[in-house]
Amino acid sequence: MSDRIEKLCSEKGLKMTDQRRTIARVLSSSTDHPDVEAVYQRAMEVDPRISIATVYRTVKLFEEASIIERHDFGDGRARYEETPVEHHDHLIDVNTGEVIEFTNEQIERLQKEVADQLGYKLVGHRLELYAVKKEAKETK
Ligand SMILES: [Zn+2]
Repeated sequence: MSDRIEKLCSEKGLKMTDQRRTIARVLSSSTDHPDVEAVYQRAMEVDPRISIATVYRTVKLFEEASIIERHDFGDGRARYEETPVEHHDHLIDVNTGEVIEFTNEQIERLQKEVADQLGYKLVGHRLELYAVKKEAKETK
């Protein structure tokens, strides 16, 4: 799985430099939807010569090629993840910033129905839930 981005890059004809490869690997191995700053920090651990400008450029390049997806989870920072093979939505813990991935068939179905009722065929959607964790004592 960790070289999926590299494979996509070569399929899309993107030239892979060592630095791009490092950034691709960081993005592939991240499961926490990092922002550019976090990608930079992780890439630096592998290759200290990488600059933040290179990370910005590369992330933009990958995004434009639909190799990664950009998200906005309400804190004003763009977050990235490898374009998922299977669709999922996100729940954001507003206290910790933790991002939890989920899918819900009922929600998927409802969205299609709404579009359908409005005379449209659904081609995509974005859904983010903003939430706080319930108290541990709150059983039910
Ligand atoms: Zn995700």
